[in-house]
Amino acid sequence: MNDVITEKNLGLYLHWPFCESKCGYCDFYSVPLKGREVAPLLTAFETDLKLRVADCDAPIDSIFWGGGTPTTLEHDYLARVLGSIRAATLGHPIREFTIEANPATVDERKASILIDGGVTRVSLGAQSFHPAELNALERLHLPSDIPVAIEIIRSVGIANYNIDLIFGIGGQTLDSWQESLKRAVDLEPNHLACYGLTYEHGTSLTKQLKLGTIEVCDEQLEADMFLACKDFLEGCGYEQYELSNYAKPGHRCLHNLIYWKNGSYQAVGPSAAGCIKDVRFKNVRDINEYVRQINARGQAIAEQETVTDELRALEFLMMRMRLIEGLDCADFKRCTGIDLSERCADAIARLADAGLVERGGDCVKMTRRGLLLADTVIRELAGDLDPPSGMSLNVIRDRSDSEN
Ligand code: SF4
Repeated sequence: MNDVITEKNLGLYLHWPFCESKCGYCDFYSVPLKGREVAPLLTAFETDLKLRVADCDAPIDSIFWGGGTPTTLEHDYLARVLGSIRAATLGHPIREFTIEANPATVDERKASILIDGGVTRVSLGAQSFHPAELNALERLHLPSDIPVAIEIIRSVGIANYNIDLIFGIGGQTLDSWQESLKRAVDLEPNHLACYGLTYEHGTSLTKQLKLGTIEVCDEQLEADMFLACKDFLEGCGYEQYELSNYAKPGHRCLHNLIYWKNGSYQAVGPSAAGCIKDVRFKNVRDINEYVRQINARGQAIAEQETVTDELRALEFLMMRMRLIEGLDCADFKRCTGIDLSERCADAIARLADAGLVERGGDCVKMTRRGLLLADTVIRELAGDLDPPSGMSLNVIRDRSDSEN
């Protein structure tokens, strides 16, 4: 797949907010499905979708339907939404349509509905192949559900799938992590996303952390896991192209590249965030309120801002430095008018002396050691850019992690 991203690329993000249960580490907007009526949300979601796509002034290249877990939808509803997506995006040159799924939420009929509905890629939230670790993450599925789900996905002809894994789980060992990696690779995904566990505000794991009732992974062990992952996957023919993302040649995630390369993306669903050129918006993070606002006025935007020059520069820096290829200073200047080599000369020199960044032509990129300290590297560079007060570096996570 051609993964060159330009200003012309447009993504469409869809957020379905229901899951079977709430995982202990998850701070995405999702609520347990049990006993909830989905029909009102479905109708509002379809209205939002139709209006948002009609509002696009560029062709949509990629669709990413995440959440939440879209595959919690029952067969008929799933087919209905996919039909609505297809109708709304008819004529758009969709190159990639990813859906997030969890093991134990995929069956043969659902998988057939996905492929008939135009889905080209499945992102499976496996996270670990060890029951104790899945338990620690408060995941519902069992390790044995993972190969079953992959087999079903493959059986309908979806050959393009990602497996998500998490390291840094309390009680996880280097051996158990390496075994999860091996078992994932044995399933022949063409993409893997390997995230370090983070303790986000308000999650169950963070509450337990504060109470001191859970074991936490040692920092050095987590660093060893990151490097073991990088070395193992690279040895298996995967290319690390972003801090947490690995792909076989030609299989980078086009949709996420739109985020990392500061492209435009429309957003549909409760809490979904979009950015069209210089205008960023976020829908209301409440299902009932979302339904009410969509039905009343055709949109449910809770926050909207125009990206300032300073913010654009900061975001460009933060997103591009996550990419292994690094940040191209000529691109940065073209987009922001700022000469990074000049503006951040001191920070670049300090970081290079510390062995954390290196220059490659006109690019600044993190070294192997720098990748372990990515937040520090980005903060140092951002400090020299003089970011506006109140800007949160968390924007990185908001826009690009999936961890379903
Ligand atoms: S991690 Fe994924 S499956 Fe778990 S609650 Fe969050 S969105 Fe749902």
